[in-house]
Amino acid sequence: MEQTEINNLQTIQDFWNKRPWVIAGPCSAETEEQVIRIAQQLKATGKVDVLRAGIWKPRTRPGNFEGVGSKGLPWLQKAKQLTGLPFAIEVATAKQLEDALKHDTDIIWIGARTTANPFSVQEMADAFTGLQLPVLIKNPVNPDLELWTGAVERVLKSGIEKVALVHRGFSSYGDTEFRNAPMWQLALEMKRRFPDLPFIIDPSHICGNRHMLQSVTQNAIDLDYDGLIIESHITPDEAWSDAKQQITPEKLDELLNAIVWRK
Ligand code: PEP
Ligand code: MN
Repeated sequence: MEQTEINNLQTIQDFWNKRPWVIAGPCSAETEEQVIRIAQQLKATGKVDVLRAGIWKPRTRPGNFEGVGSKGLPWLQKAKQLTGLPFAIEVATAKQLEDALKHDTDIIWIGARTTANPFSVQEMADAFTGLQLPVLIKNPVNPDLELWTGAVERVLKSGIEKVALVHRGFSSYGDTEFRNAPMWQLALEMKRRFPDLPFIIDPSHICGNRHMLQSVTQNAIDLDYDGLIIESHITPDEAWSDAKQQITPEKLDELLNAIVWRK
């Protein structure tokens, strides 16, 4: 095994053991410059453990930006080389996983639309066989704990040991205060079902706006969540996806400073 691979494994192991987790980055990777600048600014806060960015974006309706695709992977690799931040991306097919692994991806997450589809989750689980990287599993878009549980079971059965849960809220019919209602009690049932798996909050997709991020994150920390995955962009208003909910690294720094941490 190469020395760099050993270092990488150690970095991921250190991350896995630390609390709270702070995973941050843009909804989508847009350009090489944007990815590198956000990584540098997030690193400079001294508070971020892992960079996140969407490369393939599953959009509910066609016609929206669907991600830059594989060409964004070298940008993330370069951002890692420059900052030392490991990176996480969403993967929804075996082919995407293959591309991701060729580019030194550290952590995979399964998105809310994928978790809702057992065939897709099983395809991913089969592709994970023999791998060691951490896999974060978002709740399904709909408030169905059996689907979320099934996804966790499929991934665990594939032999992946580092599995974590991401609470990103649930869609409901009509307009609500939240983009995706947190339904805290429902989500906490998953924490009870899998007490040994890290459980983190994604306040960005719950809120769909900037002004509620602080209170949703604080509520999760008060409920003993293990950290957060949050969207941060160098120029949020100009983001190609999820512009309304993204915050600058400076605002993220302020948000994290204001949180009362439990551990
Ligand atoms: C995202 O993280 O940008 C995303 C698309 O999230 P979700 O799968 O929770 O909608
Ligand atoms: Mn997003």
